[in-house]
Order: sequence, then structure tokens, then C-alpha cells
Amino acid sequence: MSMKDYEEKAKKIQEQAERLQASMLSIKKLTECAREGHKFDLDVECSNHASIDNIIVHCSRCGAFGDAEGVDLRMPENEEAFGDLSDKFVVDIEIEIPEEVEDEVVETEEVKTEYKEEQSSDGTYKVDVSSILGKKKEGDE
Ligand SMILES: [Zn+2]
Repeated sequence: MSMKDYEEKAKKIQEQAERLQASMLSIKKLTECAREGHKFDLDVECSNHASIDNIIVHCSRCGAFGDAEGVDLRMPENEEAFGDLSDKFVVDIEIEIPEEVEDEVVETEEVKTEYKEEQSSDGTYKVDVSSILGKKKEGDE
């Protein structure tokens, strides 16, 4: 073999080694997630108030992701808390948005939902979706 052949072969083996290393690292992280649960981050793309264009869930540890396009928002089934709106799709609820919003801020009581939400400074919502995704073990409740 010429020097060039050796170099090419070495390069190929190097690439194979890197690929194997990436595979092993990925399996290691995935195994951790299988044992402890994924660390989900959530990006929500939303162009109107009644539906979600796209939800992308990804694990910050292992990188696994899932997405759900075109999700219609719905009110929780709880007449005590939501009255007539209980269990209705938001798109079916008639809402009038005043053209000019007055300066006066109306404080509304915070509605308790079963999902924790927080808005980070970059405007994306982070939601604890473990219950939606069925991460909870059966009979956990
Ligand atoms: Zn994971």
C-alpha cells in the first residue's frame, strides 16, 4: 500500500471509531433516560388562541424528540372551575376581543390546571408534559 492508501484507510477507521463512540454515548444516555425518565423540553408553535400549530418535545439528555402538529386546545372537564366552558374546544367558544384594550388591568384569578407552565425569557413555554406523554407509571395516581 502506498502512503496515500494508509492515510485513506486510517481516515476511514477514524470515522468508524467516531461513529461507534457516538452510538455508544447515545445508548448510554438513552439507557439513563429509560431508568430515570426523559428530561423533556417543550417548544410550542402557536399562531392563534384556539389551536397549536406544532408541539415539539425533546429530551435535553438523550436528544429523542416527538412532535404533534395541529393540536386543538380544549378546556379541562371541570364544571366547577370552568362552568359552561368545561370540556369545550377553545375554537367553539365565542370570544370577543375588544379592538382597543384599556389601560386598566383586570386581575383574574389564576386558573389551576394540571399542567405546570412557565414562560422563559425567550418566549417559549416550558410545560411539564410527563402526564400527557404517559410517563407516569400506571397506578401511580
Ligand atoms: Zn431522554
